Amino acid sequence: MTLKQALNRTREIFVANNIADARLESELLLRHTLNISQTQLYIDINQELSPEQEKAFWHLVKRRLNGEPTVYITGHREFYGLDFYVDPNVLIPRPESELLVEKALKLAQHQPGVTIAEIGTGCGAIAISLALNLPQAKIYATDISAPALKVARANCQKHGVLNRVRLLLGDMLDSLPQPVDLIVANLPYVKESELLAQFPVSSEPRLALNGGPDGLERIRQLCRQLNGKLRPEGYLLLEIGQGQETAVTTFLSNLLPSAEIEVTPDLSGIDRVVSLHLT
Ligand code: GLN
Repeated sequence: MTLKQALNRTREIFVANNIADARLESELLLRHTLNISQTQLYIDINQELSPEQEKAFWHLVKRRLNGEPTVYITGHREFYGLDFYVDPNVLIPRPESELLVEKALKLAQHQPGVTIAEIGTGCGAIAISLALNLPQAKIYATDISAPALKVARANCQKHGVLNRVRLLLGDMLDSLPQPVDLIVANLPYVKESELLAQFPVSSEPRLALNGGPDGLERIRQLCRQLNGKLRPEGYLLLEIGQGQETAVTTFLSNLLPSAEIEVTPDLSGIDRVVSLHLT
């Protein structure tokens, strides 16, 4: 069987099993099996797979059909133009979370000594993207999950920022050793009752998705801890889920009546980031 035949066959199987992006996923799995780049895949497209390669490839296809995300099978995910290692201890970074990075960079790029904390860092994608684009910033990245922090550590090492991003184990802002200028967080915000419907066969950690009965429990918890952790004039950037903007902005304006609050939509037009500026 040639690479091309293997890809076509897999695509058909994935389409028949309602797997979105069937072509892309087939390619990622085949490239992972052969450990080759996309360019090399196309150069070798008419080559024959060896029996061992074929066996290894079908094994990965089977894992995918059993519900395992391709990202966890290959261990790679691209975010903000960077390659991150991911495993089932962390949420798979979503493209819409790049908006958090863009907003944070805009706020921080003219403040060389800025201190930033990312809360619930998971694989570290946001904190590391910030560290690489803000060479003078001091960055903390916290998570309540020790296995997640191990993944973040591996990614800091991979991107050469282990000495720039301080990883802290702890709940929300508890472990922050000093007040910071900017807090960035993609906290769990999925309603508990919708978890199963939204992520039926997901192997992603529920801890990173479950936002309690109304989805906002963790967001409220963080906001209540801001006092003394966010400097005067500081900014908070929160990722939110579809339709949560009114509930979150209402809560924040009651909690901090003098703060400036703004909502920014993502590329699909969904209100995605709530920004709060302490004044
Ligand atoms: N963005 C995720 C989703 O697919 C949720 C992530 C989160 O809870 N922060 O809905």
